[in-house]
Amino acid sequence: MKKKLLVVGAHSADFVWRAGGTIAKVAEQGGEILNLALSYGERGESGELWKENPKRSVEDVKKIRHEQADKASIILGSVFKCLDWGDYPMIVSEERTAQLAEIIRNFAPNVIITHTEKDPFNPDHPLAFTTVQRARLLSAGAGVAAAFERIDPPAWYCFEPHQPELSGFVPDIFIDITAVFEKKIAAMACMGAQNYLKSYYTELGGRRGNHARRISGQNAVKFAEAHQSMVPRVTDTIF
Ligand SMILES: [Zn+2]
Repeated sequence: MKKKLLVVGAHSADFVWRAGGTIAKVAEQGGEILNLALSYGERGESGELWKENPKRSVEDVKKIRHEQADKASIILGSVFKCLDWGDYPMIVSEERTAQLAEIIRNFAPNVIITHTEKDPFNPDHPLAFTTVQRARLLSAGAGVAAAFERIDPPAWYCFEPHQPELSGFVPDIFIDITAVFEKKIAAMACMGAQNYLKSYYTELGGRRGNHARRISGQNAVKFAEAHQSMVPRVTDTIF
């Protein structure tokens, strides 16, 4: 069975900075990845587009953001989809939560990655966490037969937020992304609306690579991405 990864971002570029290497790695290992954005980040995370032309329309920004995220997703070997819920502020109704639960049920991922529960610098990221948490439970139930159609509960991680300490992020897994780092760089380069983040996340990849080497002694690890699991993983070996 093909392994499936669902990456849920509040905004259309979140997956690239925080999980681009992990996505490319899963793709190279034969997995299927859906990058699901709850919004385009058209109001709050498209700074360079608004700076370039303050008079452009929101629809125009959304179109550009879609093209950028689509291109980046293809480079990483994945598929991009946006629910276009709006950002800054994002509003999540019960209908929208049900919509996300339906997508999770249909895609049936083995793993979901999304934002951290806390992010004191962004109004939409913690809401994305809460919505994913609720939709994941609505799609999987309590791990037993239920009155509704359900899937096995997917493993669940948070990707690294921009300010990890202040967002309560404590990583417990480092993914070696050395072999696919060039793809991450190329995908980040597609995000013209947030070019200022490219150098930051390139540097972070190197720093997490250093941490991964120190932890494991695996000196071939040059770049890594850090994630934190939200529920314990179940495996058949301690190794
Ligand atoms: Zn975001």
